Amino acid sequence: MSTPSDAQRMEKIVSLCKRRGFIFQSSEIYGGLNGAWDYGPLGVELKRNLKNYWWRIMVHERDDVVGMDGAILTHPAVLKASGHVEGFSDPMIDCRTCKAHLRADQLVDKKGVRQCPNCGGKDLTEARQFNLMFETHVGASAEESSVAYLRPETAQSIFTQFKNVLEVSRKKLPFGIAQIGKAFRNEINPRNFTFRSREFEQMELEYFCRPEQGMELLEYWKEERLKFYENIGLSRASLNVLNVPDEERAFYSKGTYDIEYHFPFGRQELEGVAYRTDYDLSQHQKASGKSLEYFAEETKERFIPHVVEPSAGVDRTVLALICEAYSEDQAPNDKREMESRIVLRFSPRMAPIKCAVFPLLKNKEQLVAKAKEIVALLRPHMTVFYDESGAIGRRYRRQDEIGTPFGVTVDFETLGEKDPALRNTVTLRDRDSMKQERVSIGDLVNFLSSRIR
Ligand code: ATP
Repeated sequence: MSTPSDAQRMEKIVSLCKRRGFIFQSSEIYGGLNGAWDYGPLGVELKRNLKNYWWRIMVHERDDVVGMDGAILTHPAVLKASGHVEGFSDPMIDCRTCKAHLRADQLVDKKGVRQCPNCGGKDLTEARQFNLMFETHVGASAEESSVAYLRPETAQSIFTQFKNVLEVSRKKLPFGIAQIGKAFRNEINPRNFTFRSREFEQMELEYFCRPEQGMELLEYWKEERLKFYENIGLSRASLNVLNVPDEERAFYSKGTYDIEYHFPFGRQELEGVAYRTDYDLSQHQKASGKSLEYFAEETKERFIPHVVEPSAGVDRTVLALICEAYSEDQAPNDKREMESRIVLRFSPRMAPIKCAVFPLLKNKEQLVAKAKEIVALLRPHMTVFYDESGAIGRRYRRQDEIGTPFGVTVDFETLGEKDPALRNTVTLRDRDSMKQERVSIGDLVNFLSSRIR
């Protein structure tokens, strides 16, 4: 259960995200579109860092995984075969008192009586199935147009392209196909900021294998994915692995783990790692009439591969990164008085801006010129932010609040005015410890790059 302080913490996070340009409500000037979010200048960098790192670890650094990028518009036959047209639905209940549409699992149970979580009303409708897919029409005129769906997950294009990718990549089992992209679900109740949205992004891997390898690979991928989360800065203590019980698993899955994160609003799923057997490829083979079998040269066998699927949410992970990073502590201001500071302790690998560069004074031409030189030196290697306005303490504070791990200040010592030995050195400040050290400009790129990777 979340406590009032958790709710306050979440409120502060949402407000910081808007104030500093991480995440805005979509269509805000028209009153907002529920369940859709726009990422601002810092949010888009954070999101890219996450997706790029996922791609690097899951595709580029492996011999056995290739990528693809499928269409969002999906032929209805695909989603009929996958079971989504029939069964991709949540049970919905309406509250007759306040007219809220509710997912059945959101009702509050008070002494065995089900109540509306919004108004406490007990006058509720029976549950009915509500399909979560967004339907659209493709074609110029209404008569000729045909139904298509916005994909509810990225996985299906991987299954339908399995044979093409297998042929062009000439991979042998076990091997995987990875994809990052948008998915759409008409969630009954979008909530908890970006956690449950109607438009979101997924990072999915379908890892194909022989049937006897499925259970072992499920364990393997669960461990790999946990390592991934730790490497982007989520502590192991904030993560939980739920072994999804038989009755809650999809009927075709022989094993599923949910990797969960302790959000301020409770422990919730970040990623599902599921052993889906040969369900998906078998369904598509049956429905399309095209063989999706694999031919094992060594044994001359033909069979439909099984698959293990680690499926993660980009937006949920971005939110977890922000929640994990958010902290408040005490720091001295320019008058050396302690004041509270907000700091996002992103791991340098994920931080939207890696280094901020400040001339000590903006009206000293030489300081400004040197600072701009350093910006140009660092830019090819990392995201850099130049700031010359306000007291230096204030400038540090602004960067702390957006999680910039390093700050470089160009001062009179840099110009060699105090001690010629310090010429071409700068003050490098660490966001977390607030410690400052003197570093030579020539060493900056190597020094910072080694900490950012
Ligand atoms: P939930 O039970 O929370 O609805 P799910 O089990 O239906 O999620 P999957 O179908 O396993 O989710 O999708 C894989 C991942 O996609 C999830 O772990 C999550 O990170 C992300 N995801 C799914 N639905 C949403 C959504 N509405 N908003 C944001 N991310 C989502």
